[in-house]
Parts: sequence; structure tokens; C-alpha cells
Amino acid sequence: LINHADLALQQAKRMGGNSMRFFSEDVHVISVEQVNLESALRKAIFRDEFVVYYQPKVCLASGLIVGVEALVRWMHPSMGLLGPGQFIPLAEEAGLISAIGEIVLDKACRQTRLWQEQGFGHIATSVNVVAQQLNRGNLLDILDRVLIHTGLDPALLELEITESSLMEDRDEIQHILEEVRMRGIQIALDDFGTGYSSLSYLKRFPIDILKIDQSFIFEIGHNENDEAIVRAIFAMAQSLGLKVVAEGVETAQHMDFLRAQNCDLVQGFFISRPIPAEDMTAMLERQRLQQPQNIQSA
Ligand code: C2E
Ligand code: MG
Ligand code: MG
Repeated sequence: LINHADLALQQAKRMGGNSMRFFSEDVHVISVEQVNLESALRKAIFRDEFVVYYQPKVCLASGLIVGVEALVRWMHPSMGLLGPGQFIPLAEEAGLISAIGEIVLDKACRQTRLWQEQGFGHIATSVNVVAQQLNRGNLLDILDRVLIHTGLDPALLELEITESSLMEDRDEIQHILEEVRMRGIQIALDDFGTGYSSLSYLKRFPIDILKIDQSFIFEIGHNENDEAIVRAIFAMAQSLGLKVVAEGVETAQHMDFLRAQNCDLVQGFFISRPIPAEDMTAMLERQRLQQPQNIQSA
């Protein structure tokens, strides 16, 4: 009885707390699956089952790939390749996000260093960080460790954080982000427009880049209100001196609209889906063959 009550309690907490849940067999099945997945996730850390995919970011002015976003996948032994949505929330709940975050950061920095050694020029890599890594994790220690370990120039690293991460415990987070910035790492505000989009965040936190959420880009050509919001975000970012990345760019129409707004970088299926490191290297290689001089100066 107590076990069942506890499962209902855990579910209530997962739904954000402050609510009531009854135990049912469904809850039981979900919890068992979750426990199984959680223990598999712990093993995955030791068995090195995480792989990092990369999605290119293209500079609209030059047409060149100037950066990539590192996106984690889990090569589950029986379930195959799992996307972050299938395990990142669980990793947060199980307190494993810092460990997984360090693995992703390490792999991404190592790969970026390799691209630099291979002469692909300035290819900056962005890595996603969730609120828990900022609040409870030892993010600065991890960053220092990984940068020393991999020897990557911090100027080639960016951290992507979501607006919701900035809502809690602001002084502490402001301090952490300032420390990140002092190391020469850039900070991007991810999925911009979907949270509170508070202008005071932009003033208070050391943000370098705004990533406009894909839900706005998706509506370009269909929804005048969304287009107006995107234009307003560009006007604001440009007057604050922030770089803008548009994500979820899927069509030539999106590209035209963004070019008219003087958008700096675009990322999305129109250019490429997230791909494994070898495929990303091949893509950079093709770019170098096509435009060798541009890459030297990019
Ligand atoms: P995000 O940071 O906003 O990443 C962009 C997501 O949009 C990626 O999904 C990418 O595959 C998808 N996407 C990119 N271009 C397009 C497009 O043109 N159309 C559409 N429909 N989708 C596009 P993915 O890889 O499934 O990642 C989902 C989220 O998981 C990411 O959202 C990020 O918040 C999180 N995530 C990924 N890797 C990590 C990680 O290493 N650590 C943490 N903490 N979170 C991660
Ligand atoms: Mg991101
Ligand atoms: Mg995003």
C-alpha cells in the first residue's frame, strides 16, 4: 500500500507538484518502465552509449557553415537511437544530467578541436545546458576540466540556455554566467520567444546570441502575427548588439524572409538535419573544396 501511495506521490510531483494523484496500474507500469530506463541510463554513462550529432549553422551573408549545435542521442542497446526528448527529462529527475552534460561537452569539444586541427577554420560549437546544470551542477568546474582536457580554444564554444533556466535563483545564475563569459565562452538564449521573453533578462544576464524558436519560423509565410514578432525580435536584438540565430529553418521562403531581416545565422532542415560527426566532417570537407579561400578568411 505504501509503495503504491509512493508511486502516486512521485507522479504528482512529476506533474509539477501541488496536485493529487490516485494510484493505478498504469502508474505502476509507467514507473517500472521509468525505473528500468533510469537504471539503463546509469549504465549508459559507464558504457559510453551517448553519441553526439551535429547540426550546421550557416552564415546568411557568406553562405558558409560557421558553427554547429551539438545534440545528444542515446544508442540504447535494445531500443536503438533515442532522441534527447526521450531521456533528458528523466536524466534531470534522476540527477544524472550533470554527468551526461559533461560527456556531451567533452565529446563536442574534442570534435571541435579536431575540426580546427583539420584546418576547417572557425567552426564554433554550441552545447545545450538545462536549468539543473546551472542551479545544482558544478558547471564551472566541468567547463574548466573539459577545456583543459581537450585543449579547445574557449572562443569556439557556446552554451545554449533556455529562458526558463534564468527564472530561478537569479543572483547565483548571473554569477555563473558571468564566470562562463570571463572564460571567453559565448552564451546563447535558446528557444527565445517561448518563455517569458523578459527584456530584463537580456539586460541583466551576459547574453551574446538570441536563438529565435522554431515555432515562430514555422509560421513565416502563414501567420502575420508571428512574422511581426520575428521582425520585432530582430529589431530588438540588433539594437542591443546581439547576434541572432534562427532555428527550424525548413524552406526557401523562410530563408528569404530571414535574409530580409539581416539574420546572422540559420539552422534547420533546409540546410541539414542533425548528423553524426563523420558526416559533419564530410560536409565541412565539401565546403572547403568548393570555397578554399573563403574558409581561410571566415
Ligand atoms: P534545441 O536546443 O532547441 O535543439 C533544436 C532541436 O530542433 C533539435 O532536436 C533539432 O533536431 C530540431 N530541429 C532542427 N532543425 C529543425 C527543423 O528545421 N525543423 C524541425 N522540425 N526541427 C528541427 P533534438 O536533437 O531532438 O533536440 C531536442 C532538444 O533536446 C534540444 O532542443 C535541446 O534542448 C535538448 N538537447 C539536445 N542535446 C542536449 C544535451 O546534450 N544536453 C541537454 N541538456 N539538452 C539537450
Ligand atoms: Mg539548443
Ligand atoms: Mg532551440
